[in-house]
Amino acid sequence: MRYSLEQLRSANARYGMFHAMADTVEGDFQFSAKDNLTSKGMETCAGSRILEGYVPAFDATAISKIKAAGGTLVGKTNMDEFGFGTFSANSGFEIPRNPYDTDRACGGSSGGSACAAAVFEGHVSLGVSTGGSICCPASFCGVYGIAPTYGRVSRYGLIDYGNSLDKIGPISADAKDLRKFTYMIAGKDPKDPTSCVQPDGFGEDRPVRRVAVPKEGVEGLSQDVADAFEKALSKLDSLGIETETVDMPTLKYAMPAYYVLATSEASTNLARYVGMRYGRQDGDLSLKFDDYFSDVRSRCFGDEAKRRILLGTYTRMAGFRDRYYAKALQVRQAIIADYKRVFSDFDAVLAPTMPFVAPKFEDISKMSALDSYKADYLTVPANIAGTPHMSVPCGYDPDGMPIGMQFVTDHWNENLLFSTAELWQENFTARRPEVVM
Ligand code: GLN
Repeated sequence: MRYSLEQLRSANARYGMFHAMADTVEGDFQFSAKDNLTSKGMETCAGSRILEGYVPAFDATAISKIKAAGGTLVGKTNMDEFGFGTFSANSGFEIPRNPYDTDRACGGSSGGSACAAAVFEGHVSLGVSTGGSICCPASFCGVYGIAPTYGRVSRYGLIDYGNSLDKIGPISADAKDLRKFTYMIAGKDPKDPTSCVQPDGFGEDRPVRRVAVPKEGVEGLSQDVADAFEKALSKLDSLGIETETVDMPTLKYAMPAYYVLATSEASTNLARYVGMRYGRQDGDLSLKFDDYFSDVRSRCFGDEAKRRILLGTYTRMAGFRDRYYAKALQVRQAIIADYKRVFSDFDAVLAPTMPFVAPKFEDISKMSALDSYKADYLTVPANIAGTPHMSVPCGYDPDGMPIGMQFVTDHWNENLLFSTAELWQENFTARRPEVVM
């Protein structure tokens, strides 16, 4: 469906999904993209005040491919600053509100994208995942989202969080869009060498048949999520998809290893934001250069960005890096080996996407940074392994809040995910939010 500028603006006033918006919305179809993907002529801030005023001169490859297919970019979606968060509440700008209950978060860090996909009919939004930022918000907003294999989609034009982890993928209320838009944006791009090693094709095209449910993936769930997941497993059974409990002992180390790797990479990526080249350039130029940089960075980075710079700098320091960074790399290899072992026998690994439904903002404000990191234990393993993973809506709690489950397949096997999502969609009764605009 095509929305008018007035409708888009009015929805934005209620749900806060967009940071920057287009002035005109003509074209074959509308789409939006997370605000860490550069968009020609449209402000791009990655959720950070330090980039305020940055209007890129070029489109990210993923965006230019959708535009070439006839898409009109209607807005850039609100997100956690540089992707640092699980609820999109760490934004330097507006915090998107959940369309099922505006007192609750959309998930993070692609919260604005999942919100747009849930609110606008027939709308696809590009998200980016480093440690779960596509699947988490998709599950909190009751929509489908896929993080393709690492390297499948060019990262050219992406404002990096963790270069060895970042993946771009579509979020939509319609499972069929995951296939369509992943095909559209995927492919080798000389501007991102990591995209050039991908094979042709997306693997075998059929729904999964044998699925492993790691026992580590069903621990620590809220009762509502556990109940919905249990029901989803019986539904899969009725669709001829067999599920079996397995042990994946390395999964419990994924969260700590992820936060070491991700912050190590993030702390180096953020070094370029000093108030000179991009965005804010309003420091006092009479200061010595170090003082100028410190002044701009102190004022413009949010607390979470500062925390991650400190953490990531520490884990890379001479004297500590073997204990933290090098160790985390070893854990990553062990996790990949664990997945490969399971994939020799099963088509996919399945668990709930998030251990609870979208929390209320008042509860998020009481959470410590560590509480929020811990909430990622189900999404982080597949991200660390670089394996494709997809969240599909699988139920609702008694308040009507959506619950999602996440399928993970082996590298380059996205077709198994697309076919499974399409089959699931035909057999699952989704409830759309009551949208007011
Ligand atoms: N919540 C995770 C983090 O804060 C993942 C976010 C992401 O994928 N960008 O790092």
